[in-house]
Amino acid sequence: MNLNPRTAIFFAGFLAYIAIRGRFARETKQNVKTVRRVNWTEMILLWLVGVTGLLFPVLYVFTPALAFADYPLPIAAWWCGLILMVASILLFYRSHADLGKNWSPTLEIREGHTLVTEGVYRRIRHPMYAAILLFDIAQGLMLPNGLAGWSALGIFLVLYVTRVPREERLMRDQFGDAYRDYMSRTGRLFPR
Ligand code: SAH
Repeated sequence: MNLNPRTAIFFAGFLAYIAIRGRFARETKQNVKTVRRVNWTEMILLWLVGVTGLLFPVLYVFTPALAFADYPLPIAAWWCGLILMVASILLFYRSHADLGKNWSPTLEIREGHTLVTEGVYRRIRHPMYAAILLFDIAQGLMLPNGLAGWSALGIFLVLYVTRVPREERLMRDQFGDAYRDYMSRTGRLFPR
């Protein structure tokens, strides 16, 4: 059990992050999918994202199961993590709000899918993945446990590098030159 003010603040951010995802996931529930490109590697990686990003922090905070991977972290790391976590939650919220009904957890096109190029999508193509990466770094800096802290970032990086080229191909197949133009004026994670 590692419930203390520092892990409690992390946990509050963690709940906010889950609540944002839950709210927008509900809004896209009625979507009719017209294209779906999911493979086994991606399904396994998504499952591992859940284990490392959701289950491990809960196990770390509420049980001694991961105590073997505890290590000391300076308080300055926690403060840096907190700043990143706040930025991540704001960006996560904004990217869900801007992507709206076009969001999906896997690579899909829905009926009436539109290409979003405004809001936080104006300068970067993957603000939601940027937000998740920021959150995973914050998790590493705020939880003094090697496994609960950093495994989510490792798994998400693998998902990111395998998914993004496939997602951009899907977008090009769907939106053609409009997406090619959009790619030429935006960066993947950092504004061009
Ligand atoms: N990669 C984006 C979106 C993640 S959600 C981000 O990080 O913000 C994944 C789904 O979003 C994909 O299935 C794809 O259909 C859709 N998508 C990705 N970029 C989009 C865009 N610019 N406009 C509309 N839909 C998009």
